[in-house]
Amino acid sequence: MEFSSKLLEKAVNEMSQLPGIGKRTALRLVLHLLRQPKSQTLELADALQNMRNDIKFCKSCNNISDSEFCEICANPNRNSELICVVEDIRDVMAIENTSSFKGLYHVLGGKISPMDGIGPNDLNIQPLVEKVKQGRVKELIFALGSTMEGDTTNFYIYKQIQDFDITTSTIARGISVGNELEYTDEVTLGRSIINRIPFEVSLKS
Ligand SMILES: [Zn+2]
Repeated sequence: MEFSSKLLEKAVNEMSQLPGIGKRTALRLVLHLLRQPKSQTLELADALQNMRNDIKFCKSCNNISDSEFCEICANPNRNSELICVVEDIRDVMAIENTSSFKGLYHVLGGKISPMDGIGPNDLNIQPLVEKVKQGRVKELIFALGSTMEGDTTNFYIYKQIQDFDITTSTIARGISVGNELEYTDEVTLGRSIINRIPFEVSLKS
């Protein structure tokens, strides 16, 4: 692609770093920004900059948050002894949309995947094990989706905490469509949380 402007070329190159955005789409988006009022583009740039500079990760659950502790962890009406283990914020959003869960979350930030070089130490697993060791948890619900990576991660965590006096459960298998909780409809997902099954039972199926 030949550009008549280095500034344009730089913007297109940056835009095309985003997933699913090829050079042609990047050019279309950048030209769109150029046609918009300048203020709109600057607001987009500001929003991105502020997000990167100011966003925090909740000190308790690791969810993306604007403050030290996220709104869910800070809510006294939530049951802090019931913890749902999820991969990332999209799962939190999907489960929150069901209004079926009144416990807290623990966001791992990924799944164990030896193929991609992601081991247990790359994830937010140890703080979860600590919470269990300190006796602050009565039940863990695994909601990682039934991929091989999800199963591996569930089992790894289960091994770490199985000697402690807590209940472990999992949402119904096969619940994730396209391997992402975010694509599952709210009613099905809500039901699968309410009708969760003991983790030990899921191991045998
Ligand atoms: Zn939190």
